[in-house]
This record gives sequence, C-alpha cells and structure tokens, in this order.
Amino acid sequence: MITDPSGRALDYLRLSLTDRCNLRCVYCMPEEGVVWKPHAEILRFEESLRLCRILCALGIRRIKLTGGEPLVRRGLENFIRELREIPLLEELTLTTNGLLLAEFLDCLGDDARFLLNGVNISLNSPDAANFARIARRDRLGAALGGMRRALAAGLPVKLNCVPVRGFNERDLAATAALAKDEVRAVRFIELMPLGAGASLEGVPMAEVLAVLEGEFGPLRRDYSRIGNGPAVYYAVPGFAGKIGFISAISETFCAGCNRLRLGADGRLRACLASEISADLRSLLRSGAGDDEIKNAVLRLAASKPVSHRFAGPVAKGGRGGSGGLPGQEYCRIEDGMYRIGG
Ligand code: SAM
Ligand code: SF4
Repeated sequence: MITDPSGRALDYLRLSLTDRCNLRCVYCMPEEGVVWKPHAEILRFEESLRLCRILCALGIRRIKLTGGEPLVRRGLENFIRELREIPLLEELTLTTNGLLLAEFLDCLGDDARFLLNGVNISLNSPDAANFARIARRDRLGAALGGMRRALAAGLPVKLNCVPVRGFNERDLAATAALAKDEVRAVRFIELMPLGAGASLEGVPMAEVLAVLEGEFGPLRRDYSRIGNGPAVYYAVPGFAGKIGFISAISETFCAGCNRLRLGADGRLRACLASEISADLRSLLRSGAGDDEIKNAVLRLAASKPVSHRFAGPVAKGGRGGSGGLPGQEYCRIEDGMYRIGG
C-alpha cells in the first residue's frame, strides 16, 4: 500500500494519456496557440502500461484515464485491454468530452462493460449555443451521442459540469435534469483557478444548490457511495440519478484524498497543486529497474501535501489538460524529482 505522511492510503491513479484535445473549453485551454508536447515527450502505451503494473504492485487499485481528451489517442482500445490484464487492478474508468465516445464504444463492442467500470462525460450545457461558447466548438450533438451510446452499452455514466459565470449559469437546472432517468449522476465541479480558468469566475456551489432547490424543491443529502471521488451527493425527488457537488476550493476535501496523478509526459504528482513531481519517463528511458521506479514513486508519495494551496497565488495563463500546472517551468533537482521553477 502507498501511504503518505498524513496516513492517507493512495490507491487511485488519474492517468493522463495525452495533452491534446478536440475541444478548447474556456476554463481549460486558450482558444489558439496551444503548443502540444512533442510526441517523444509523451509516454508510449507500453511505458504507461509498465508504470501502471508497478503502481498496482505498490497499491493502486483504481485507474481513471484522462487527458487532454483520452479518446483522441490512437490505439487506446488495445491499451485498455492490456490494462485490464493487470490482476490487481479493480476498477478502470474513463473521463471524456464524449465526442468520440460512440465510435470508441463501437470498437470495444460487447466487451465495453467488462473493460470499463464507468464513464464520466463533460457536459457543461444542454443548450447548443452555450455548449459551443464554453467548448469553443459546436459539438453538443456529438457529446450527447456519446452519452447515449455509453448508456446503451450498459455503462454507468456520470456527467460533469463546470459552472462558469456568464457562460452556463442559466442552464444549471436543465443540466441537472439530465439525471432524471438513466444517468447515474450529474456533478457540478467548482471552477479551479488553473491555467485558462484563472481569468474566469466560477459559480459558487452554494449558489448552484440554491438554483436547483428553487427549481426542484429541497434536495436531500445522499450518503450512499458513488465512485471514489470527493463529490457530495444529493437526491432530487423524482430523479433516478443523483446530483453531485465537487467543491475543491471552498470545501477542501484534501483530508480524504487518495490520488496520484501520472501526466501524459510521465511526471507523477501527488497533488494537482503540488510543486513536486517525479520524472518517471526519464527513469524508464534510462533503463531503471522496477525497484528504482518504485522508490521514486514512494519518495514522491512522501511529498503529498496535507492540503492544496489554491486559495493562495496560483499559476496563470498557461494551458491545462495534461495533468501539469500550466504556465510553469521545471528544473531538475536530485533523484529525478522536479520542483517548479519559473
Ligand atoms: N477531456 C476530458 C473531459 O473534459 O472530461 C478529460 C480531461 S479534463 C482536463 C478532466 C476534467 O477536468 C473535466 O471534467 C473538466 O471539466 C475539468 N476541468 C478542466 N479544467 C478545469 C478547471 N479550470 N476547473 C475545474 N475543472 C476543470
Ligand atoms: Fe478538452 Fe477536457 Fe480541457 Fe475541455 S476540459 S478542453 S474537453 S481536456
């Protein structure tokens, strides 16, 4: 088991597979001029697989595939099949904007619900114009098509919405209403002041709750466990699915954090806001053995901060999506660990 100095067991890995994306959400990436990492800096699937095996041997039991947009990565189907061969891996889920989900699930065929334990789909508005304003692409139809295909495949589906002032604040009730039938949960995620998100205003979760209660009546706190994340769930009368709130900033949930994050470039982080990462790609490519890599992971886990510092000064103006703090430079220090420089 990987345990950090605060006694938290780290058994959940967010694995970023690419920094690329087919959308440009206003809170995540700039409209133009995104400089993608060169392919050589992105872990090859066999490298990611080796790291996942090592991490599972250390105690990781759940992996969420993310990005950028993970479904733009060619060869993902085989990678998922190979990940599933790791005996200690108990759960594999995917977070996606849904645009390529229908064709991807067609590719997986009947195996989809055995390979994947669930899918999270970003859906910031069911209104086509507002979806397009946030995503900077007019692709609501494709995202909804992906959602329907995932439901048809029998996969548990959660929708994620980041409420942003001036963009989708009028669509909150309509977005929540997507939890009426088959969708397991609609989760509202507090805007994080990272990268492009730093110049936007989020809608406080208390305000979202008030809007929903104004529309649907009092929401009842639901304590049943849905997934591994930090969402707080509510039941709405007449809804089959739940409404979740993820308030990373206003109600820090760091005390229960069980995550490690492996960036597409092979940098392992113990916290989205941490200044320290372990350069596992360099270790891999320098021919390091499994024990050496395990030690680097354990040293990194020992750096997991008790709590994030988003309330303080944060990086601005870069790009997000790859699992790295945007707009910041890294300089090498000892033992393959990196500390933020500029
Ligand atoms: N492309 C996929 C997607 O959009 O679901 C996966 C990667 S995306 C970086 C993962 C999640 O991070 C999405 O739910 C997205 O809405 C969220 N996200 C990105 N930037 C954010 C920010 N500044 N504040 C809050 N959530 C953010
Ligand atoms: Fe792409 Fe996801 Fe970022 Fe939107 S939030 S730009 S879909 S990576």
